[in-house]
Amino acid sequence: MKLTFLGTGTSFGVPKIGCYCDVCRSPDPRDKRSRVGAVVESNRGTRLLIDTPPELRVQLIAAAIDRVDAVAFTHEHADHTHGIDDLRAITVSREAPLPIYGSAHALGDLARKFRYIFDDSMRPVPGTSKPEGKAHVVESGRPFSVGDLEITPVSVPHGNVTVFAYRIGPLAYVTDAKSIPPEAIDLLRGASVLVVNALFRTEHPTHLSIPEAVDVARAVGAERTYLTHLTHDNFHADLEAELPRGIAPAFDGLTVRID
Ligand SMILES: [Zn+2]
Ligand SMILES: [Zn+2]
Ligand SMILES: [Zn+2]
Repeated sequence: MKLTFLGTGTSFGVPKIGCYCDVCRSPDPRDKRSRVGAVVESNRGTRLLIDTPPELRVQLIAAAIDRVDAVAFTHEHADHTHGIDDLRAITVSREAPLPIYGSAHALGDLARKFRYIFDDSMRPVPGTSKPEGKAHVVESGRPFSVGDLEITPVSVPHGNVTVFAYRIGPLAYVTDAKSIPPEAIDLLRGASVLVVNALFRTEHPTHLSIPEAVDVARAVGAERTYLTHLTHDNFHADLEAELPRGIAPAFDGLTVRID
């Protein structure tokens, strides 16, 4: 299996508009973080896109990915969904609509915000196109399949929103969690690679802090943990140097082999 980090930045992205701090002006390409999304690819080539961040088009071109077999949304927040129209370039070359998975709440919210995609009665003007997707509601703890990938949604809290983490065989992918309840830890334990969100060094009302993410990494016990949803508070190189063994910051475009 292969994991590609499309984006690893917090909702503002890094650099942040109007900020001229040292990290936002860093020449290190790993300090340029677009909004969070990822692609998981099985050894047989099945590709699952996790979220459609606002920079999706640029991210997919940079990763040379021109086909995905399904999308799984973690939740409905703008930084994870507002690139959804870029799916058009992928669905235009498919015969069947692209399967789109998520919680009832997240898909309901997307259907309201992006009615032209989810309402079958809204057809594009002949000679034009729109993203052709088919929504599938999935539930926490109940696995579903995309090709040869088996995927289990795992509910985690994120302020007033519930987010789906995804367990996909040896991978546990968790973004936008404020905490990981014990029953979620049980579903994530045994993964060899953990991806987990981390914002600041200090507490945040809706996200894990960096020290809390390190605690989560220890509780899940994966061989390798990658932090994502990172901010302009830290240089990539500083985080890499100071995090405990087995835990590293992700960066945009990083690919990880998981076997
Ligand atoms: Zn987010
Ligand atoms: Zn900054
Ligand atoms: Zn969020």
